[in-house]
Amino acid sequence: MLVLAQPFPYLSMMPSETLSADPRRNLVGLSREALAAEMAAFGAEPFRARQLWHWIYHRGATDLAAMTSLSKGFRNRLAERYAIRRPAVSHSLASSDGTRKWLLRFSDGQEVETVHIPEEDRGTLCVSSQVGCTLNCTFCHTGTQLLVRNLGAEEIIGQVMVARDALGEWPSPQDDRQLTNIVLMGMGEPLYNYDNVAAAMKIVMDPEGLSVSRRKITLSTAGVVPMIRRCGAELAVNLAISLHAVRDDLRDRLVPLNRKYPITELLDACRNYPGASNARRITFEYVMLKGVNDSPAEARELVRLIAGIPAKVNLIPFNSWPGSPYECSSDAAIAAFSDIVFSAGYSAPVRTPRGRDIFAACGQLKSASIRLRRSAREGTALLAS
Ligand code: SAH
Repeated sequence: MLVLAQPFPYLSMMPSETLSADPRRNLVGLSREALAAEMAAFGAEPFRARQLWHWIYHRGATDLAAMTSLSKGFRNRLAERYAIRRPAVSHSLASSDGTRKWLLRFSDGQEVETVHIPEEDRGTLCVSSQVGCTLNCTFCHTGTQLLVRNLGAEEIIGQVMVARDALGEWPSPQDDRQLTNIVLMGMGEPLYNYDNVAAAMKIVMDPEGLSVSRRKITLSTAGVVPMIRRCGAELAVNLAISLHAVRDDLRDRLVPLNRKYPITELLDACRNYPGASNARRITFEYVMLKGVNDSPAEARELVRLIAGIPAKVNLIPFNSWPGSPYECSSDAAIAAFSDIVFSAGYSAPVRTPRGRDIFAACGQLKSASIRLRRSAREGTALLAS
């Protein structure tokens, strides 16, 4: 059962910064140009904006007072008007497999999840783009959380900075990082919040700051076709498509956005994605649902559909949640599906579920924490789910 934090669901697309109680402006999330303009209006010389950028995004400073290369008088004046804010960490969990998950709270009390998944050769941060999601994919837990708003650029970049704080990765390490890759695969549809996602990713990619290369960033979309080209042309990040079905009638049910942008249109947008090549393949995500989309015939149809697109396929075992109408496919069905895709020349790894002990699947920790708070209020125990 889902219990909402608010008595009534409502739809508000306003980032929380506009609702903040602290009247000081947050410098986190401003583009280089906006920061320069802000400092010019404040009467500071242009090099001050560059110094601030370095402190905020290379050194990870959270306090203007700690910026020792700025004169004390200037720091004090700045602190009257500006702050460097991070989202608050309301829960922090570590899995026995090394996966870490943070539930982050913004100034309006809304929360999202951010997950860090360490692997042998990389460490991937899964970032959210919205509180909740408007898409209502029927297998996705986030879709059941009715409260939705866009995250501001500062709330998206704030997730990366909180992870860097926790991993101790300041100043930005040149190499041997624990956070090497970013995937926009957390809560929300990033192409429905494109402007803020793009602003945040431009800051993430800036070489004089967090310095994560566009080649290490992947944006995952359920298929907002008109935004795909723009994303490729302006951000040139890697693209992942949540395909999950090879026929429109089934995809209409699993990913209702398909009714607006059907499979053929979506695949055309992939064929034309700027920058796609054999070195930079488009990832097709396919969640394995028992008896729903996991037959050998569907694997063969998938191969036929993506022919000609530089592609790889990620098979994701369905991560079940309380009350979900689906079950995960059997290991044998997943292996057979993977073999067919692999034999056709595509890499088709099966994603190993990570962090199951910490509710690492999208949307699960948030719901668990809402249940926990409610049961604490009501004096009842949290039922394990
Ligand atoms: N809105 C974007 C990004 C968020 S979802 C998108 O649709 O791509 C990130 C990925 O997790 C998507 O591929 C989504 O289909 C998948 N996913 C969501 N719920 C899942 C579940 N319960 N089990 C397995 N994968 C799931």
